[in-house]
Amino acid sequence: MIYLKTTEEIELMRISAQMVSQTLGLVASEIKEGVTLKHLDVRAEQFIRDNGGVPVFKGYGGFPATLCLSVNEQVVHGIPSDKTILQSGDIISVDCGVIKNHFVGDHAYTFCCGDIAQEVQRLVRVTKECLYLGIEQAKTGNRIGDVSYAIQQHAQKNGYGVVRDLVGHGLGKNLHEKPEVPNYGKRGSGPLIQNGLTIAIEPMINLGKKEVTQLKDGWTIVTADRKPSAHFEHDIAIVNGVADILSTFSYAEEAMKKNDFLMDI
Ligand code: MG
Ligand code: MG
Repeated sequence: MIYLKTTEEIELMRISAQMVSQTLGLVASEIKEGVTLKHLDVRAEQFIRDNGGVPVFKGYGGFPATLCLSVNEQVVHGIPSDKTILQSGDIISVDCGVIKNHFVGDHAYTFCCGDIAQEVQRLVRVTKECLYLGIEQAKTGNRIGDVSYAIQQHAQKNGYGVVRDLVGHGLGKNLHEKPEVPNYGKRGSGPLIQNGLTIAIEPMINLGKKEVTQLKDGWTIVTADRKPSAHFEHDIAIVNGVADILSTFSYAEEAMKKNDFLMDI
């Protein structure tokens, strides 16, 4: 069943979403050449707990960290380790979830480190465009399939593979609620979009083919062809018929401007 939220609940979700947004900003300020992924994770967890939140990924299905950090060919669910360091040319998807006041925020941004190949810059840019094109379709009268279709069309028009195995989702007191929000689909299909619907829209777009596989760690999803993949995610609520974006990339993008190692694409 899809659980529609009240205005009060949506405002609580906004608080959780904004905490994730601030965490992404903090992570963006900490990214530099040679930084370990573990360091980024430790800083994020500290920030969330200092602000009265709880990292929602940590312990979820046994996931061991606060952030999912997925580099280059890793699509999502990468485990931050102290062995992986960031280098020029890497792209890193930072996905973060927080619970506060019983409501969850969950979103993600892909950062470009140092000198990034042109074709990878374009992938990152188009994936972000896919997110906003999807959000535009999230309005009353439409169905989830209209969001999915918009994302898929834009990605495929640019020659990219759209991941099928993982999808966006409803969001609320739980990290994953109904409905599923696939990044592929048919116009006019799926659940109706109504006021009070709260969902995480999260295109995962591959430079190469759409197929993915899981590493032996039981978590990390990588592209089957090992080409790069990008991921952006926002939390939205349907209010007065249109999408109210509860999360913001402004903290991440402000930090990015001040960080010479991050390329604004
Ligand atoms: Mg999500
Ligand atoms: Mg996420």
